[in-house]
Amino acid sequence: MPQQVIRKNSDDWELIPNLLDYDAAREHFSWEHELEMLDGLPGGGLNIAHEAVDRHAADERHNHLALRWLDRNGRATDFTYGDLCALTNRFANVLRDLGVAKGDRVFGLSERVPELYITALGALKNGSVFCPLFSAFGPEPLRSRLSIGEARVLMTTESLYQRKVAPLRDSLPHLQYVLLVRDKTDAECPHGTLDFRALLQSAAESFTIENTDPEDPALLHFTSGTTGKPKGALHVHEAVLAHHASARLALDLHPQDVFWCTADPGWVTGTSYGIIAPLVIGATMIVDREEFDPERWYGILRDQHVSVWYTAPTAVRMMMKHGSALARQFELPALRFMASVGEPLNPEAVRWGEEAFGLPFHDNWWQTETGGIMIANYLSQPVRPGSMGRPLPGIEAAIVSAGDDGKLEVITEAGREGELALKRGWPSMFRTYLYEEARYQKCFRDGWYLTGDLARCDEDGYFWFVGRADDVIKSSGHLIGPFEVESALMEHPAVAEAAVIGIPDPVAGEIVKGFVSLRPDVDATSKAAVETLRREILALARKRLGPAVAPRQIQVENDLPRTRSGKIMRRLLKARELGLPEGDTSTLEGKE
Ligand code: AMP
Repeated sequence: MPQQVIRKNSDDWELIPNLLDYDAAREHFSWEHELEMLDGLPGGGLNIAHEAVDRHAADERHNHLALRWLDRNGRATDFTYGDLCALTNRFANVLRDLGVAKGDRVFGLSERVPELYITALGALKNGSVFCPLFSAFGPEPLRSRLSIGEARVLMTTESLYQRKVAPLRDSLPHLQYVLLVRDKTDAECPHGTLDFRALLQSAAESFTIENTDPEDPALLHFTSGTTGKPKGALHVHEAVLAHHASARLALDLHPQDVFWCTADPGWVTGTSYGIIAPLVIGATMIVDREEFDPERWYGILRDQHVSVWYTAPTAVRMMMKHGSALARQFELPALRFMASVGEPLNPEAVRWGEEAFGLPFHDNWWQTETGGIMIANYLSQPVRPGSMGRPLPGIEAAIVSAGDDGKLEVITEAGREGELALKRGWPSMFRTYLYEEARYQKCFRDGWYLTGDLARCDEDGYFWFVGRADDVIKSSGHLIGPFEVESALMEHPAVAEAAVIGIPDPVAGEIVKGFVSLRPDVDATSKAAVETLRREILALARKRLGPAVAPRQIQVENDLPRTRSGKIMRRLLKARELGLPEGDTSTLEGKE
């Protein structure tokens, strides 16, 4: 029996959950109906920024608070929907005046500052493709992404530019404009850059949105695979239907809500739900410039009257470390719904939410390629701790396995493990991996998108995460491709071979551990010499990759296990590291 929760927030309005009856919601759902809830462009097209900003600015929500930005000291700067409309129009004009065209890629690399949000939405208005980059990336991940994505424009801050981008500039022939957000404006802009704020100020405030088609590219998000370069998952304007539907149904967002998504826009969650979804609903969103600090976070929840909060298991685990008593010191009468994404949310964390905040965390599941929430625990249904929940209305999910004939078998037996698959064709499904169509096509079989996650489904249709089907590492909610890290380790002149795995960590979920073997001519005779090298390699990796991606541990080995075809067996390294059975080692080099 679903609990028909009708809670009141501090303003005393009554709120009825958007999804009351799961089966009925599934039955009556259609993407056509979802489209009818949106506006569309006057010319018949569809544009994410129009749905997120302009349609509210044109009605009675013009003066409604859209974005409240908190600086280092917690001071607020407010932007109404009207303000956001004007500022994003200005930025779209900046791009148009520079000759930046529909389909050109506009990258954002900055901490969470208002200009990042203006860039994302203004670029969408111009019909350009917005691509966020994480500001903690080191030069190497930045170079590969800017280069694969053929960035034409980069919005960044002066200090990030000087430290990370300027040294790469010569290797980025497509990068024509760098727009700098600067604290000091008295000095000249560094060579080859323009002043973001000055351009914005002198641009016109009215803009006619490019008449984008639902299938026109809108967002590019890089994600990591097991092998090769990072993959650029390309999403289209039609994705806004899924942002709207999932915000309504999985996050229960209402226009009256104050919503806080703690993810950085450098990752897909921070764009889909940290920019687009709350605005599409017409809610107020909070953006905090700073990183995690439990007292700061609880203070934000209380002082900003956050009603819906979307965070991640790593953050929940960090809060758990500080204890529930600290959380309970903060009265949070407005808080009515809490959700989490990115990694498995342990049942203890769900229950800890109840102890600390009087509410459970609702786990949900999705990935860069899906563009939005696909599986969720819903407000009006009891949370099943440890489960990711049930598919969003409009989404068909299944557990599949490849049969002997290569055909896909949909597993109907409850509890049997297999690969999680989604019926292809939902609006926020990625449309390609940029310039890697073959890699994209490999993700689909018999009308299903194969997610690369192993899972099982119980008799009530709840999905349970089992693990990744590949070697990709999930650390603090971020996917890390071992290949990218290994390539950086190999840059050290003493390293002959490198392999990287994820090992369990109580807070980050997993941390990156690297194994290296040394070149035969390297002096590894003494313990001290090996230790010096090990530290040097660690330091190099941190410098090249940045702290979010670099290994936390490095172990020097004489040899790394490899298959007869020469591939390093990360799986075996992991089994050995964790003391697990080594599994099938028949292809191991040296085995008869
Ligand atoms: P990303 O593309 O970086 O968003 O990472 C997506 C991956 O994160 C998924 O394929 C899963 O492996 C993992 N993931 C996301 N949400 C969950 C969840 N609720 N439970 C377990 N794993 C998750």
